[in-house]
Amino acid sequence: MTTTRPSDLDTALSLLRQTGARPRSGGTDLTACLAHGVLAPAPVVDLTGIAALAGIDWRQDGSARVGALTSVHELSADPGLRRAYPALARTAEALATPQVRRTATLGGNLLQRNRCWYLRNPAFDCFQTGGGSCPAREGDHLHGVAVDQGPCVAPHPSTLAVALVAYDAVARIEGGDEGAGERPVADLYDPGDPTRDHVLGPAQVLAAVSLPAPAPASGPPTCGRPGGPGPSGRWWR
Ligand SMILES: Cc1cc2nc3c(=O)[nH]c(=O)nc-3n(C[C@H](O)[C@H](O)[C@H](O)COP(=O)(O)OP(=O)(O)OC[C@H]3O[C@@H](n4cnc5c(N)ncnc54)[C@H](O)[C@@H]3O)c2cc1C
Ligand code: SF4
Repeated sequence: MTTTRPSDLDTALSLLRQTGARPRSGGTDLTACLAHGVLAPAPVVDLTGIAALAGIDWRQDGSARVGALTSVHELSADPGLRRAYPALARTAEALATPQVRRTATLGGNLLQRNRCWYLRNPAFDCFQTGGGSCPAREGDHLHGVAVDQGPCVAPHPSTLAVALVAYDAVARIEGGDEGAGERPVADLYDPGDPTRDHVLGPAQVLAAVSLPAPAPASGPPTCGRPGGPGPSGRWWR
């Protein structure tokens, strides 16, 4: 399995298109999926050298563009994001472990594979792996969806997506036959299509997420109330 690490997005997109490679950001999910046979072997395009996918930019109107390579740790620690989008920062801080948060990225989090036991066990076939049924329906569906919206009953595992949907965030997508475009984070997922976890095609890359300017009075709790900032300046404990 070859790994290439291009430094610009155009090269990455043409490699994805020409070689059938899979994009990798932090690798915390992709590496496990490839190692355990959840995904078929394929070349890897490492996105971490692409400056256009990095960084947090603020616009005049108070809105923010967060690059797909922004780590979960950065989402939790960036003072501007903590102030403007506390639910996102708090969700990021609660995610996984410090090691995972330092490595995992926003883009990889939104596009990770779901955690269904049957998908993660290559001994089973299901809609998501080319099969014609969903063994979780009759089997062990602990942590499956509460509301039956489609043939696949696995919820998408991204907790960041929940916060981003609440903030009406919009994802910027590059590449693929459709070309560059934007869609609400909520529309990255299609519960009616049981064959995949998100709507991006194999030669597409999630480049960034834009968050609208925060609504008035939507910031963190103010001082002096339970849940307000303590002596350390932290405001949510
Ligand atoms: C112990 C543990 C606890 C966890 N708890 C949580 C939790 O509470 N909440 C939660 O949300 N997650 C949780 N996770 C999952 C973790 O957040 C994900 O593994 C991580 O966010 C994936 O990010 P990554 O950058 O490493 O993605 P990668 O592993 O690099 O990629 C993941 C997938 O996205 C694709 N991809 C990556 N970047 C892009 C891009 N820019 N464009 C297109 N495709 C891309 C890859 O091809 C791959 O299919 C947990 C994981 C562990 C190990
Ligand atoms: S179709 Fe979805 S819920 Fe059913 S086994 Fe596959 S991943 Fe799990």
